[in-house]
Amino acid sequence: PDPVARIEALIRDVPDWPKPGVVFKDITPLLADAEGFRLAVDQITALAPTPIDIVVGMEARGFLFAAPVALSLGAGFVPVRKPGKLPSASIEESFALEYGHATLAMHTDALWPGARVLVVDDILATGGTVGATASLIKRQGAELVHVAVLMELGFLNGREALAQTGIDAVSAVV
Ligand code: IMP
Repeated sequence: PDPVARIEALIRDVPDWPKPGVVFKDITPLLADAEGFRLAVDQITALAPTPIDIVVGMEARGFLFAAPVALSLGAGFVPVRKPGKLPSASIEESFALEYGHATLAMHTDALWPGARVLVVDDILATGGTVGATASLIKRQGAELVHVAVLMELGFLNGREALAQTGIDAVSAVV
């Protein structure tokens, strides 16, 4: 069977969560399925150009895919976290949400100039999360070579928003 169809079938639509009118994509059935989880990690890994030095993953669902993809690629893993979670010196980047804003943080010694970085997340929605993460990577002089996500919610135009900031190398499994 087609691996992409198998992965898609294991992502559950939850209507009206976290609020009325939103259809939330729930990846927990995929994670719980041994074959599906393996397929998902393999498919994301296959989207990555090589070589990759570091895979950056974002708290919290991004960690679940970024860490195993890093192992598959033979790369290191660097976490991007919500503010106040990282213990050592960090840089932060804020971005706009529908209501208000959010902030993401990364350790200042996590990357180095010229490092080849892959960003991995579960869902690309508006692109705000990936955009802020890309800024954290670039501020450290590292090279964002690709963004690979499990699923893209195309109707939210995240890919177009990222393209406007010069991030063109984006791909999705589903
Ligand atoms: P964006 O910043 O609007 O692109 O939203 C992407 C972030 O929100 C990702 O880190 C996802 O984990 C999370 N996200 C947005 N929509 C969904 C969804 O339907 N299911 C799971 N996570 C979502």
